[in-house]
Amino acid sequence: MSRASNFPPPFSTRDYVVEPTDPPDERIEVGVLIVGAGPSGLACAIRLGQLLEQHPEMAERFGEVPVAVLEKGKQPGSHLLSGAVMNPRALRRLFGEGFRMDDVPSYGEVPGESVYVLTRRTALPIPPPPPMRNHGNWILSLSQLGRFLAERAEEGGAMILPETAAEKLLVSHGRVVGVRTGDKGRNREGGELGNFEAGSDLTAKVTILAEGTQGHLTAVALDRFSLRGEEPQVWELAVKEVWKVAKPLGRVIHTMGWPLRTGKRFREFGGSFIYPMGKDMVTIGLVVGLDYRDASLSVHDLLQELKTHPKIRRILEGGERVEWGAKTIPSGGFHSLPQELHAPGLLLCGDGVGMVNVPRLKGIHYAIESGRLAAEAAFRAMQRGETPASALASYDDAVRDSFIWRDLYEVRNMRQVFGHGFFVGGALASAMTISKGRVEVGKMSAEPDADQPLLVTNRDASYPTPDGKLTFDKLSSVFASGNKTRDDQPNHIRIERRVPPEVAQLWAHMCPAQVYEIGREESDGTVVVELAPSNCVQCGAITAKGGRLTPPEGGSGPEYTAT
Ligand SMILES: Cc1cc2nc3c(=O)[nH]c(=O)nc-3n(C[C@H](O)[C@H](O)[C@H](O)COP(=O)(O)OP(=O)(O)OC[C@H]3O[C@@H](n4cnc5c(N)ncnc54)[C@H](O)[C@@H]3O)c2cc1C
Ligand code: SF4
Repeated sequence: MSRASNFPPPFSTRDYVVEPTDPPDERIEVGVLIVGAGPSGLACAIRLGQLLEQHPEMAERFGEVPVAVLEKGKQPGSHLLSGAVMNPRALRRLFGEGFRMDDVPSYGEVPGESVYVLTRRTALPIPPPPPMRNHGNWILSLSQLGRFLAERAEEGGAMILPETAAEKLLVSHGRVVGVRTGDKGRNREGGELGNFEAGSDLTAKVTILAEGTQGHLTAVALDRFSLRGEEPQVWELAVKEVWKVAKPLGRVIHTMGWPLRTGKRFREFGGSFIYPMGKDMVTIGLVVGLDYRDASLSVHDLLQELKTHPKIRRILEGGERVEWGAKTIPSGGFHSLPQELHAPGLLLCGDGVGMVNVPRLKGIHYAIESGRLAAEAAFRAMQRGETPASALASYDDAVRDSFIWRDLYEVRNMRQVFGHGFFVGGALASAMTISKGRVEVGKMSAEPDADQPLLVTNRDASYPTPDGKLTFDKLSSVFASGNKTRDDQPNHIRIERRVPPEVAQLWAHMCPAQVYEIGREESDGTVVVELAPSNCVQCGAITAKGGRLTPPEGGSGPEYTAT
């Protein structure tokens, strides 16, 4: 049986670790450099601004540009996509006294909730299991929260550089000294166009990677400094849509079961979320573990199928899809966290290192808290005038002492137990949740997603034919993501181009943005995979399933506004 991992991409993390190359007087020097304007990176920038305000004597040590945040999206928020029902505790800690959730763009507190187990035609309501209870949490769009946090970070003095992808890690004498940004204005063959702009070296006393899921430089750093955790990281792929609807939905809904299959051999783990966004909008998404085995599975098309369920169709009836997007979620949990969250000159935060509570589908408040703690550790090190590894180790101590560590420990095997199938996994997961992690099921190992042996069924035969009203094809979904990637830019996806048909089929079905097509068959039975990289919405699934996503030219990709 084929496995995608038997056909590794032409990619080496070593190519992305370099010494600074710009002459010293041309390098852009900053105090603390943050990669990624997500909740984690922006919370970090906000906290640094607060600390600098409290300690004006530190201004000189931080230099002319005390804090810079690089963001590859068109603007902060463009690449942010989540549910989102957020636990507000980390935002309260970040903004401190006087902070009110009402000051944050949101759709209010969770008004109530329902959980259903679906079959093709029925929806059985069940009492919400403990991880799905959301009393006291708030509904929001992460893209909108990102724009709000970016404004707060700028007010605190941070310089945000959008449309800028951090491409290489600058390492000198064993210490991270910044990043090199990607070139802009190259053609498909790599030649320079009229508007060519070479990337630059940005050097910093402390570099903080807050890149989110499938962080490109985070993976480079984990390899360079041998930081990977005990267990491999695994991911889920989520595809979601935002709808304008005719009737308000007065509660958050989660579903389990159909359209996923419960048989152990399929390894289909996941479920859907449907959240109200005020009176006239709803978001609906489907999350599926990328350890699934069926090469004909497409999360994009399963979401289309889900919408045809009578219960769900009623919610969307008379409505209109206004946005679409896709993203992976790290789901290895506690045992997949890196051994250390720092290296000389470097700190790692948020989804990049897998700070997600999978059964609760929560990561925003861990991202914010880890960003805040990283800012404090970086500031302490700068106060003492030192930035070697030992100075930043206090960040690891702070994270281990925080609710991030406690929460992730409680649900430490939650994702792995579902490798035993839906029913056994569900029973073990419930036992662990009710006992708050005290029921010991032993440490369970996870295999990398790309190691799962593939099977091929005709699952795709039952995906609904898109009608352009309720159900859509992948290309119209890409359009609804606002993606405006230039067609002739260099290919940023690394895959082995000649693979067995089932591996090509896996990629073609898996990609929610129709980047891969199965091309000609070779005499040895392999097929050539054709690529349309400009469709890519940078969800990261290809990295989990045997290829490698690298950052395309800054400013490319989706332009989310409400996801
Ligand atoms: C569909 C879905 C539903 C979810 N639902 C919930 C929920 O309801 N509640 C909840 O709490 N959590 C939820 N999560 C998880 C939550 O969204 C994440 O945990 C959180 O967004 C992580 O924040 P982050 O700052 O670490 O990363 P991100 O939010 O991913 O932000 C990272 C930022 O860094 C930028 N970036 C990355 N690499 C580079 C680079 N090399 N150069 C420049 N910029 C770069 C990205 O463009 C992005 O803007 C959900 C996730 C998904 C996908
Ligand atoms: S090509 Fe882009 S959109 Fe498609 S799976 Fe890979 S990362 Fe996701």
